[in-house]
Amino acid sequence: MALLEKKLAALNNPLQGKVALVTGGSRGIGAEIAKELALHGATVAITYVSNAQRAEQVVEEICEYNPNVSAFQGDVTKTEDISRLCNLVIEAHGTIDILINNAGITRDSRFMNMSEEAWNEVISTNMNSLYYMTKQVLPKMIEQDYGRIINISSIIGQSGGFGQTNYAAAKAGMIGFTKSLALETAKHNITVNAVCPGYTFTDMVAEVPEKVQEKITAKIPKGRFGTPLEIAKAVRFLTVDGDYITGQCINVNGGMYM
Ligand code: NDP
Repeated sequence: MALLEKKLAALNNPLQGKVALVTGGSRGIGAEIAKELALHGATVAITYVSNAQRAEQVVEEICEYNPNVSAFQGDVTKTEDISRLCNLVIEAHGTIDILINNAGITRDSRFMNMSEEAWNEVISTNMNSLYYMTKQVLPKMIEQDYGRIINISSIIGQSGGFGQTNYAAAKAGMIGFTKSLALETAKHNITVNAVCPGYTFTDMVAEVPEKVQEKITAKIPKGRFGTPLEIAKAVRFLTVDGDYITGQCINVNGGMYM
């Protein structure tokens, strides 16, 4: 009976004992990733930059089934915030086993109108943050001979996007980073992968005018936008069953980019 209970617990909570840090976990895709990993037993730390209330809501929701959850404020474009965040998570939960680099923004405009500020903001938030976050977390992963790093890139990093030279450059950069780091870390039992969502219903796409959304939908073989949970399930798969998957880009996009 004890063995059966143990086996059931392993099935139900495959991430028990693992600590996951999800940047931008206060809403959208990040929030759903945090919930999904917590549902499978992980201890979860989410970060947010300004939405303390939304972060608190996510924590409350997770607490209903897993008390091992916390939220920390920090800007992923600021190196001092990143080091403080990582130290706080390690202080609270002992380590970081799973790093989900999810925080991201868009500042769309045609290249000819794109300000230097819009360029730099998008590159810093989406791509440079990978460098700083990973620098903080990787030594611990190497020391413990275990790590899962998942970078939330985008279909736009592969296909390009009208008015999105900054975002496409950052998201394509994330894929190159993923493959290179995967080569360097495989021997330490660390996998590094990217998940590339297609158009997914969150605050980010709510900014896209309805007419444009209709045009985009017409190009999606599945005929609809994705949900944050559909992205979160791919992330969970990589963390639970992805031991032999590294340096890959998992597309979750309704068949939009083949
Ligand atoms: P949302 O706009 O819904 O949420 C963005 C999250 O990132 C929030 O938690 C926000 O925190 C956080 N964030 C933003 N800037 C910073 C910063 N400087 N420092 C720390 N945290 C920050 O985005 P989505 O859920 O839609 O997107 C999540 C990821 O998925 C992004 O990387 C995005 O590029 C990618 N993606 C999204 C797609 C989509 O269609 N939605 C498609 C393809 C990729 P706060 O709440 O405090 O503002």
